Amino acid sequence: MRFQKSESAFFVFMGVTLAAGAVTLHAYHVVGSGIQGLSPALLDASFQYLRKLLFATGVLLVTGVFFGMFFIYPLIRKQVSEHGKLRQMTASLSARSQTLEQAALTDALTGIQNRRYFDDALQEYLEEFGRIEKPVGLMILDLDHFKQINDTHGHHIGDEVLKAVAKCLKDLTRYHDVVARLGGEEFAVVAPNMDRELLIKLAERIRRGIAGLAIMSDNAGLKITTSVGLAVWDRNETADKFFARADGMLYEAKRLGRNRVCS
Ligand code: GH3
Ligand code: MG
Ligand code: MG
Repeated sequence: MRFQKSESAFFVFMGVTLAAGAVTLHAYHVVGSGIQGLSPALLDASFQYLRKLLFATGVLLVTGVFFGMFFIYPLIRKQVSEHGKLRQMTASLSARSQTLEQAALTDALTGIQNRRYFDDALQEYLEEFGRIEKPVGLMILDLDHFKQINDTHGHHIGDEVLKAVAKCLKDLTRYHDVVARLGGEEFAVVAPNMDRELLIKLAERIRRGIAGLAIMSDNAGLKITTSVGLAVWDRNETADKFFARADGMLYEAKRLGRNRVCS
């Protein structure tokens, strides 16, 4: 068995202290054996011996103190500081991995959740709300003639539109609704605990909110509209089927002339 430096130091310290204790006990016995009847020569020898024992105890104790001060204490300090550094490093690593995880689930342009997050969240909401028998609503939105915006005003203005739409969606939904950018100019909202009527009301509010946005381009407020497809989970269908149903409604909204909600 190999000892760490600090363990060896501890054993040395214990050894020195034990030796000091043993010498002191021995001196105690010498004194206890009595001095009556001893000849002056023997008395003198005993005193000399006791003096040596006291001196040895002193030397051992001083050695112990020095050893503690100049060897054990620096070792402890070093370990404490290394432990602190390690803790700091672990904290910064875990913060970094949290940031990375966050980044992997967030859309870089708009700051809302991305497709990956949406897929997991939809699955999870269906499981949870299926258990407590509450409805789950799904809304898929696609901006109308967005390509024209890019072509007419430039890609960077298109990006501004996407950011403004994402903010509008965030502002008009509740804390526990999932708002995600699925890709391009397509967004989705998972709205738990909402029946068809409530979902239509929310979708209409969002549609009007987006139509009311004015993104500045060449000093003029640029207008944008969106088509929305809705579905309420039928409690049996898979997440994919549920999504396909809402997507079908979005297609219907486009077919009927855009800037409308279909359910
Ligand atoms: P529709 O009403 O049928 O939906 O027509 P649309 O023009 O919106 O649809 P289309 O699919 O033809 O065009 C989508 C456009 O979205 C094309 C693409 O250049 C643009 N786009 C996709 N992602 C981004 C992006 O991150 N930034 C910008 N500025 N444009 C994007
Ligand atoms: Mg599209
Ligand atoms: Mg579009």
